[in-house]
Amino acid sequence: MSIRIVLVGTTHPGNIGAVARAMKNMGLNDLALVNPRYFPHEDATARASGATDVLDAASVVSTLSEALTDCVYVAGTSARSRAITWPSMGPRDCAERMMLEGKKGKVAAVFGPEKTGLHNDDLDLCHTLLTIPTDPDFSSLNLAMAVQVLTYELRVASALDSGPGFESEAPPATGDEMEHFYDHLEQVMIDLEFLNPTNPRLLMRRLRRIFIRARPDKNEANILRGFLAAIDRKKESS
Ligand code: SAH
Repeated sequence: MSIRIVLVGTTHPGNIGAVARAMKNMGLNDLALVNPRYFPHEDATARASGATDVLDAASVVSTLSEALTDCVYVAGTSARSRAITWPSMGPRDCAERMMLEGKKGKVAAVFGPEKTGLHNDDLDLCHTLLTIPTDPDFSSLNLAMAVQVLTYELRVASALDSGPGFESEAPPATGDEMEHFYDHLEQVMIDLEFLNPTNPRLLMRRLRRIFIRARPDKNEANILRGFLAAIDRKKESS
């Protein structure tokens, strides 16, 4: 299965167990944990019920980008709308999109810490924001319940015939390839004094948004890297 559920900074180990159970109910087993406060933990095992195999196989990493290295499409969840607008979807549309993208490579849904939710820096690594519609005055679901809603929709979407998927000459660039490109782009813009390194944030976020919309494939990402390398060479020789 090409779908990964990623939990960032989970505080309560019981929620990790409940997520494992929600996933296994819907036929998913790829769980990644970014800096969980307690794991492994007896509360996680207890709340997983029979889904301890999902917990045992979970990968534990220290940054979100490590959990997304091989991913070609990422949805980041949020209960609230954000100051700077990300493209946003509901769980049904998002599940269909994830199934479609899953034909091309690994896709992931990222869930945030119980109290604070995902940081904007986490959402920078995502192609879309996913918000589960709720009563506007009480919008924050329990973490495992949010996972359950999405994984149920993924199960429903997996039964739909979504056709042959996107036609493109090369597979999409992975998270890792795009992160290298963004690092390189930032460095080149600093070298050219187009970007002020003391205040780089908003410009990089807006540029990321362009490439998130464009979804470069591997060949296109290589062209962009090649272009940046040519600028580097020119600058060194001048
Ligand atoms: N105040 C936080 C809520 C954190 S709840 C926020 O605004 O995001 C913990 C996690 O559960 C969230 O990070 C998100 O992954 C998920 N979640 C809770 N309610 C959600 C909703 N309505 N839509 C999408 N995800 C939700």
